[in-house]
Amino acid sequence: MNEFDFIRRLREQTRTRNQSPRILTGIGDDASVISEAGNRDFVVTTDLLVEGVDFYRDTAPASLLGHKALAVSLSDIAAMGARPLWSLVSIGMPAEVWADDFKESFFEGYFALADRYGVVLCGGDVSEAKDKTVIDSIVGGEVNSGRAVLRSTAQPGDQIFVTGGLGGAAAGLKLIEMGARMGPKGLTSLPAPSKRGTSPTVREGSELRGTSPTVREGSKAAEIHTSELRTIEALLLRQLFPDARVGWGIVLGEERLASAMIDVSDGLSSDLGHLCRQSNVGALLQSERIPIDKEVTKLCGRRALDPLALALHGGEDFELLFTVRPDDVTRLPKRVDGVKASHIGEITNQSGVIRIAEGRLIWDLQPRGFEHFSRSV
Ligand code: ADP
Ligand code: MG
Repeated sequence: MNEFDFIRRLREQTRTRNQSPRILTGIGDDASVISEAGNRDFVVTTDLLVEGVDFYRDTAPASLLGHKALAVSLSDIAAMGARPLWSLVSIGMPAEVWADDFKESFFEGYFALADRYGVVLCGGDVSEAKDKTVIDSIVGGEVNSGRAVLRSTAQPGDQIFVTGGLGGAAAGLKLIEMGARMGPKGLTSLPAPSKRGTSPTVREGSELRGTSPTVREGSKAAEIHTSELRTIEALLLRQLFPDARVGWGIVLGEERLASAMIDVSDGLSSDLGHLCRQSNVGALLQSERIPIDKEVTKLCGRRALDPLALALHGGEDFELLFTVRPDDVTRLPKRVDGVKASHIGEITNQSGVIRIAEGRLIWDLQPRGFEHFSRSV
């Protein structure tokens, strides 16, 4: 049984139990929607981040993790077309993590992002854990009654859009797996050039934003161009310090622009699959319109990675994937908070069939994004 089968089963189990007319959307969407008194609905989401699975403590300062823990939940609130208002965060950590400056650094990053959107931390929990650090991030928000944008309401003919660029976070993860590391002031270690190579360490005190810094690689010095360092750093930040599209979410919800929406957390192919399955529709994407992150294109040329594959299947970009009724397309803003949305395809009536056109060729797009327990029985 995989993660999604388990969630489907839980959903069935809740259907035969106590019901509340106030739960407008339960298990199955980016967040739950509960009706409030007055003309508002309340939207709430929770996300678990587990050390060794969702993050590594030695890859980056804890302040970036604090930012990311909140960003992933803000992204789910945005995916409902809602405005975030408050949050709770619970942390379980081993005693040695408690003793160092992890918690201070974590909350520095957390509060910086919360303050940016006026989100109020209003509770949480702390516990000692045995081996690994675990974080549960909860965010609550609001929409006007009946305005939450669901995954299940796309219709054939609706046009498909995605904000920002795709593939950056997955490329960042690949760089981390190759040995790249971030410190408080930028890169501290570079990705190894090949599987056999060791990761070169950035010489202490070298100015990464200066011109062509020299990087120590074993005993021999190798020149790494500043532009490549910038690309590596930008991609690591896409993975470790993601933006949530809070402004886009609010606009799409309040202006009733999106007919359905999900955030890209598992990967475009998987998340479009969730949206189509729940809406009982299919999709046809245009390959040349997929907005591949420009840093990914730069990096892939140098490191033999496939940029389109990263954009289609890579997870954790936290962009918003949404559909728009044909009549509403002209009302879409060009940019929100400086971020564009790209028109990438159309919803079809072939339920569950997701296809992608490249020139005259059309092929089936299999979901190849992230899945917990995908190798379990
Ligand atoms: P997202 O990637 O948007 O955070 P998930 O894939 O984590 O969404 O979850 C999909 C749906 O399943 C959500 O509606 C979530 O609330 C629900 N869900 C996941 N795990 C559980 C659980 N343990 N109990 C109840 N609902 C769950
Ligand atoms: Mg989501």
